[in-house]
Amino acid sequence: MKRDFAVIGLGRFGGSICRELSMEGMQVLAIDNDEDKVNEYKNIASHAVIADSTDEVTLKELGIKNIDHVIVAIGDNIQASILTTVVLTDLGIKKITVKAQNDYHEKILNKIGADQVVHPERDMGKRIAHNIISSNILDY
Ligand code: ATP
Repeated sequence: MKRDFAVIGLGRFGGSICRELSMEGMQVLAIDNDEDKVNEYKNIASHAVIADSTDEVTLKELGIKNIDHVIVAIGDNIQASILTTVVLTDLGIKKITVKAQNDYHEKILNKIGADQVVHPERDMGKRIAHNIISSNILDY
């Protein structure tokens, strides 16, 4: 089933999500306020646009309300990440996944209504630690 996604922030994390979803045949709207990043994803995502995601009017104009699942992959700029999430929850987006930069950021995102908060570095660290333990057990 083809579903509509939007990825906001095309850094390493958001870019990788955008690439994978597109490769799986999903419709992806890629958004970043950096022109170079948007140009990089022009031929990968279904649509790639330069926009400031903290601007509610702009997001409305982009038709974000019709999108099933929005991924906010802005990490370093915590203020922009929080503002974007607030705008998306106000617009009544069905599912919002947000990348958190630290525990404090994660706490705020949960409070303001993000459906799923991910912490890629921490989560990947946990997975790798478990993989190391299980491969060590197999080695003995
Ligand atoms: P990563 O760790 O995933 O590589 P990064 O360090 O490259 O991330 P971040 O600062 O986390 O970059 O931001 C990710 C992307 O979000 C950047 O490409 C940045 O241009 C974009 N971005 C930041 N603020 C906004 C905003 N207000 N609107 C749209 N895009 C934004």
